[in-house]
Amino acid sequence: MEPMTTTGVDLPDDAVDADDWFEVPDELHYYYSYSYGGVSRFFREIVDNQRLTVTRCELCDRGYCPPRRDCPRCWERTTWQPHPGTGTVVAPVYCYWTQINSPVRRYVQPPFVYALVRLDGMTNALHTLIHTDDLRVNRTVRVGTRVEVRFREQRRGTLADVYFVPVEQP
Ligand SMILES: [Zn+2]
Repeated sequence: MEPMTTTGVDLPDDAVDADDWFEVPDELHYYYSYSYGGVSRFFREIVDNQRLTVTRCELCDRGYCPPRRDCPRCWERTTWQPHPGTGTVVAPVYCYWTQINSPVRRYVQPPFVYALVRLDGMTNALHTLIHTDDLRVNRTVRVGTRVEVRFREQRRGTLADVYFVPVEQP
């Protein structure tokens, strides 16, 4: 019999024949923590102070939210700035259904409006939820709608800690 290998380790010739292996499907659950590294301040300000902070490159003046520790254009270290949390919807998505086991259901139940929002003065855009009572397509949320940030009462350091609401237009 040829030696069997698992992950590159040779097993002895008298190891159990693969045909005799009995396998049982099972599940593993891991609990762990991870660091946001150079953008930790963004989440800490949301959790502790209900404030939005963004980063800006002093060399090319591009602003980033989601923040970037280093400017992806010129690789300069960015600096932190407070932001009032106002912006414009770039691309809304109206979601009326998700799979019953979809991970998104940990954060929100359909129907909901999900959107890319470009905060004022920023180069990139943030994926976020837009809260509105009128969930009909393009009624209160559409490309160009002005929005402002809100903070959830319970915050745990994820982008789901914030959402946006349409700003009443004069
Ligand atoms: Zn730059």
